[in-house]
Order: sequence, then C-alpha cells, then structure tokens
Amino acid sequence: MTLRRFRPYFGYLKQVRGPITKAVVYGLLYGAATGAGLPLLVNYVFPPIFDRQGGALPFSTVALIAACIPMVFLLRAVSGYLNSYYTQYAGVRILESIRVDYFRKLQVLPLSFVQSKRTGDLISRGLADTAQLQFTLTQLANDGIKQPATLIGAIVAVGWLAYKSQGVALMLVCLAAVPVVVFPIRFIGKKVIKRAADMQSRLGHVTAQFTENLAAAREVRAFSLEAREVDRFSQGTAELVTAQMKIAKYAQALTPAIEVISATGIAFTLLYAYGSGIELATFISIITALYGSYDPVKKMGALNSELKRGEASLDRLEVVLHEPVTIADPAAPVAVSRLRGDLAFENVSFSYGDNAALSEVTARIPAGTVCALVGPSGAGKTTFANLVPRFYEVAAGSVTIDGTDVRAMRLADLRRNIALVSQEPVLFNDTIFNNLLLGREGATRDEVIAAARAAHAHEFIEKQPHGYDTVVGERGGLLSGGQKQRLAIARAFLRNAPILILDEATSALDSDSEAAVQDALRHLVVGKTVLIIAHRFSTIRDASMILVFDKGRVVAQGDHAALYAGNALYKSLYDRQQGSS
Ligand code: ADP
Repeated sequence: MTLRRFRPYFGYLKQVRGPITKAVVYGLLYGAATGAGLPLLVNYVFPPIFDRQGGALPFSTVALIAACIPMVFLLRAVSGYLNSYYTQYAGVRILESIRVDYFRKLQVLPLSFVQSKRTGDLISRGLADTAQLQFTLTQLANDGIKQPATLIGAIVAVGWLAYKSQGVALMLVCLAAVPVVVFPIRFIGKKVIKRAADMQSRLGHVTAQFTENLAAAREVRAFSLEAREVDRFSQGTAELVTAQMKIAKYAQALTPAIEVISATGIAFTLLYAYGSGIELATFISIITALYGSYDPVKKMGALNSELKRGEASLDRLEVVLHEPVTIADPAAPVAVSRLRGDLAFENVSFSYGDNAALSEVTARIPAGTVCALVGPSGAGKTTFANLVPRFYEVAAGSVTIDGTDVRAMRLADLRRNIALVSQEPVLFNDTIFNNLLLGREGATRDEVIAAARAAHAHEFIEKQPHGYDTVVGERGGLLSGGQKQRLAIARAFLRNAPILILDEATSALDSDSEAAVQDALRHLVVGKTVLIIAHRFSTIRDASMILVFDKGRVVAQGDHAALYAGNALYKSLYDRQQGSS
C-alpha cells in the first residue's frame, strides 16, 4: 500500500495542522455547496415560483428566491478560494521544511557521497523532487479526506433513494460499477510509478547537463563546443519530454476510462429500471446522485496517480535522506582543545570504491614540521592530506594527532585545529570581509585586517570599489587567481590553526602575485605542522621533510639533498621540472 510509504513524512503535515484543517473544512463546504446546494435549490426552492395555482407570489419573495442563486455560488466561490489558499499555504510550508532537511543532510554526508553524484542531479532532487513530494502530500491532505467523505455521502444517497423505491436489488445494480472502476485506477497507478521515476531521473540528468555546462562555460567557448552542447542538451530535454508524455498518456486516460465505466453502469441501471417499472422522477434522481458519486472516485483515482508520482520522488530523495552519515561525532568523544600537531599515519589504507588510493602508509610528521608531499599525479597525495581532517574514513590503520585517533574526536574540535588553503580557493558571493571571517567566526574587524595584511591582501582589498565590503561575485569571479589565493591565505592566518594543509596552485600566477603569495605563505607556515601538496620544487626545497608518493605508497622520505642523491623517482621528478621551467 502506497500510503504507508508516506507515513514517516506525515510529520511535515503536523506543523501546518491549522491551515490543513481549515483547507479540509472549506473543501467540505465547497463540496456541499456544489453537490448539495444546487440540487436542493432545484428540489425545494424553485418549485414554488412555478406553482401558479396558489396565485402570484409577491415580488419580494421571488427576488429573495432569485437571490439564493448568487448566494450559493458565493458560498461555493469563497469556500473554494479559501480551500485552495490554505492548501497552497500548507504546501509551501511543507516544501520549505522538506528542502531544508534535504539540504541539511547534504551538509553532513561524507564527501565521497557528494562527489559520487552529479551536482545537477542532487540539485534536481532538492528542487523538483521535493516540489513533487510537497504536491503529493498536500493533495493527500486535501483530497484524501474530502473525496472519500463525498463518495460515502453520495453512496448513502444513492442507496437511500434506490432502497426507498425498489429495494436492495436496484441499489446493488446502481453501485456495481464502483468496484469495477478500481481496476483502471490500479492499472494506471502501476504504469505511472515506473514512468514517474524515469521522468524525475531524466529531469535530474537535464539539470546536471545544465550545471556542468555552466561550470565549463570557458572550455565550451575555447573548444568551440557550443553546437555539441546544444545538441546534447536538446537530446536530454527531448528524452524528458518523451518521459513526461508517457505519464500524460496514462494519467490522462483515467478520467475517460472511469466515465465510460460509469456510463455503462448507468446503462445497466436503465435496463433494470425498465424491467422493474421505476418512475422517471425516481430514475432521474438516482442517476443524478449516481453520477455525482463518480466524481470523487475519479478524483481519488487521480490522487492515486499522484501518490505514485510522489513515491517515485520519495525514492530519489531517500537516496540522500537515508544515506548513513558514516563520518560523524563519536559517541564518547575525547575532549581536545588546541592540538600541538603531531601527525601520525599508521598502516593506513584507503580506496575510492574499488580504486585503491593508499596502501599501508605509515608516516610520522612531528609538530612544527613543514612537510612536502611529492609524487606523480594520482599517487595519493591529496587523499593522504584529506584523511587528516577526516574528509574520508580510513579503511584500515589509523590517523592520529598528538596520539589521539581523529575518529575519537568531535569533528568540530578536529577541524577547528586545521586550516585549509586549496588550489582553487572557494569564495562565496558575499563581501570580502565576510569571506575572510569564515576563517574564524567572531573575529573582530581589526583581526581580519591584520590577517589580510599578513597575507599581502590588504593593499588590493583597499583598492576595491568598496574596500572590505566589496562583494566578490559568485566563486569570487571578480578577483584574479592570485588575489583569491591571498584571501584564502588571509583566512588561514585568521584561523591560526596548528595544522595547515596547503594544496599548492598548479596554474602559474603573475610574478607579482606569485612573490606576494610565496612571501605570505612563508610567514603563515611558521610554527605549524604543514602538509603541502607540492607542485613546485621551489617550495619543496624549503620543506624540512619530504614524503615521496608513488602508486598509493610512501616510497621514500627525507630532505631534498638526501632524496635527490638517493631516490631515483624523486630525482627524475625534480629534473623533469627543472627542465620544463
Ligand atoms: P594525487 O593528489 O597524488 O594526484 P589523489 O590522492 O588525488 O592523487 O588520487 C589517488 C588515486 O585516487 C588516483 O588513482 C585517483 O584517480 C583516485 N581518486 C582521487 N579522488 C577520487 C574520488 N573522489 N573518487 C574516486 N577516485 C578518486
């Protein structure tokens, strides 16, 4: 039963209990005005007007009777409006909570999970699938009560009319069609769920194409991929259209199917009525009530397709919502404040899926050491560094700081002790000041400025149109590479953590920036345990310790002179770089 799938999410309805209740009450009122208001007018209010035998009615009475028509429609209009309004209100509130919960979960999932999914697809789940789920839940809250109630009312009416005139047999004939309509509802529901899942995944695919294209805007132009990208995109959207039309094909078939079955039911009732000599008036009233009972059945059928679509979206959302948070705080964390920064890797192995990235790595990096990680691309340097802040979990062995396993510390405590300067520093579309403040929440303006000075960033920041309050654009798009680097370094100064992880930029900066960045870094590393994922041998020569990586192993360690003399891989990497620069 589909409904059970949604039960854990009914909690979302609780917070909007008031509006939902109002929506249902107004919905019932609307149903009453529509279903009962008009027939009652026809049955009881209008006849006196046409009953001339009792003499002409005073004009005021006729006017009063006439006024009933707009009154009923006003009631219907107002209750219909309020029903839609409150449903909508509840809907957007629910959507808000679902989205935020989804987003919150994405923040704490292991990096490996986020990296294994396409960004656009994750976005599409967070926007389109949450919207679908919200729509389903509000539909359910609204029609799930209104329609069955209306149906029961109508069945009682049909039963009563039939029973009064011809007994139980007619009643059964009248209602025989009701169970039959369940078949198309079930059949179509089954067809819809598979296609809904397909559609949502294609929507994810299209969104992913979109985000990938925008992220590669420069490359698309550089390699003249415009036409190819448009082709790929239109192919994706064409597939999406096909998937949408498949749903439309089935979902739209429901109403006509139910109508044909109802009409057949009415035909049988007609035959039976002819055979048993029922009066026209009774027959008409039964048919009217009977026809009225098909509308809620139709709507419930539509609700069923809606539930199937919601279920498909739920499946996609639960991939994220149910994903275990494997990297989390331990149950009984070891209390740590400021760490010294003695790093130790003990027999550490790690793999991305089946792809082994580190095998039995053992290394000790005493506090205050500037340690360069060197080796061919793909040798495991980045992975090694990422295990320190516990971005990934070791498969075997352990990573300890000051003798405490990183898994034994609270994540926030661990990460507070680590500053990260990445190759392409990410800036948020906010002011420079706020971007720097990310280094240490609550720092004063003077501290921020001091950090910027230390990073040789103060001068260029002052030259920006609004100084520290200049907004940097998405991903810091309005700044040069060297400027972004210096802001990242300023952030690290502000953080003043005992452990520093530096992913050296591969792309060359202009020589002024380069000199400023190098000088800032020289000051930043003082007194800290530093891991540099090194690409430039100028940096490496200055390191007090070098770890040479090859195919996921540490194959040598020492200082530059010793390694150059004693390690062939190191010598060849060094010579090759000397030759190319
Ligand atoms: P390096 O920093 O020395 O270039 P990495 O640590 O980035 O090396 O990569 C080590 C190995 O792990 C490589 O084979 C690489 O392809 C693989 N790898 C790195 N990151 C991921 C990832 N997110 N998912 C799957 N494989 C990865």
